[in-house]
Amino acid sequence: MTNATTPRGVTILGATGSIGTAALRVMARHRDLFRVSGLTAHSNAALLGEQVAEWRPDFTGLVNGGQGMPAGWASGEEVLVQAASLPSADIVLNAVVGSTGLEATLAALQAGKRVALANKESLVMGGELVMAAARRNHGELVPVDSEHSAILQCLAGRQPSDVRRLIITASGGPFRTWPTQRIAEATLADALNHPTWSMGRKITVDSASLVNKALEVIEAHFLFGVPYDRIEVVVHPQSIVHSMVEFIDGSVVAQLGVPSMELPILYALSYPERLEDDGVARFDPVAAASLTFEAVRTDAFPSFKMGLEAGRAGGVAPAVFNAANEAAVQRFLDGSLTFGGIPRAIDAALSALGDRKLDGIASLRDADRAARSLVQELV
Ligand code: NDP
Ligand code: MG
Repeated sequence: MTNATTPRGVTILGATGSIGTAALRVMARHRDLFRVSGLTAHSNAALLGEQVAEWRPDFTGLVNGGQGMPAGWASGEEVLVQAASLPSADIVLNAVVGSTGLEATLAALQAGKRVALANKESLVMGGELVMAAARRNHGELVPVDSEHSAILQCLAGRQPSDVRRLIITASGGPFRTWPTQRIAEATLADALNHPTWSMGRKITVDSASLVNKALEVIEAHFLFGVPYDRIEVVVHPQSIVHSMVEFIDGSVVAQLGVPSMELPILYALSYPERLEDDGVARFDPVAAASLTFEAVRTDAFPSFKMGLEAGRAGGVAPAVFNAANEAAVQRFLDGSLTFGGIPRAIDAALSALGDRKLDGIASLRDADRAARSLVQELV
């Protein structure tokens, strides 16, 4: 850190979620370096209230707030952009779920802030706009996603021209070894039973369908400027190797650690420095014993395949893929769609809307809305 006497202001969008609460645990170990500028949640007023009492932020926003809300809190959809633009925030951790995070990512970058990005959906939806906003305003985009944090760490000090290939690891999710036909009939309980990571419900379902991995390939493409034919995915059930980079001389650098999001969150806050921190269990190679790797069973995970195709197609296709998936996962979570219905919904949306023209953020929001209503009608 450049100046240890002035704590850096951090705003957390989605403070009450899995990533948001992990970030506050990390920050609690480094109160001399970080303070909370703003906190937002969607509906969980009780937990947000506890966080506010502890951290005394300058701004508190509850999207689904209103009457009965504590005095001084803001409410409505606009709280995300308001919190992302706070003058006292140096870093905006975007940890909301879904493409609703896009405008806040853009607003923070436009204000020249560091965005610690967990909300991968905003980058998948608006990759070109987000990267352009970062370049134009000297904003900084630092990934929180563990795979991308790993790649960033592997790349440290290297030129883009040194890179041959990115190798993103995937746990494979709960259906890694299931017969293909059985996966379509998986229940919600099956899908929420993730083998290695404890996360919010939406990303847990995305990990079961491998949509999460397709989103991550698109995320990596934009973050690191690497073409799709040089990004590979490999299944690694232990989730110890968080990703790898192969360089032009054939050497491969990997980043390892116990599966805990506190490590990539800490790195996104401290980057490019490292902070001493004992909060997470240390990695023990002997206890880990064996690290194994397998090919992805692409045919068993049709949504994964469609996500990669949408990424390569570019334009609005990634936004349509993402929105159709968000809508379908919501239906799966509320019991009105089967697991096998998720790829059918994505397929229908991409066929109908995938080759629309990309023309600014309005065209992305239109495609996002159209994909959601198409899935709604389908169900
Ligand atoms: P959670 O569901 O646990 O938390 C989501 C947070 O966003 C909550 O604070 C929630 O508020 C808030 N929120 C939900 N919907 C809205 C909305 N429409 N508008 C504003 N705020 C909203 O999600 P996770 O923490 O698991 O994931 C957050 C993001 O991080 C996702 O993009 C995910 O892909 C990414 N990510 C997560 C990882 C993990 O380990 N969990 C790993 C890598 C990436 P409330 O509590 O009030 O509902
Ligand atoms: Mg990840």
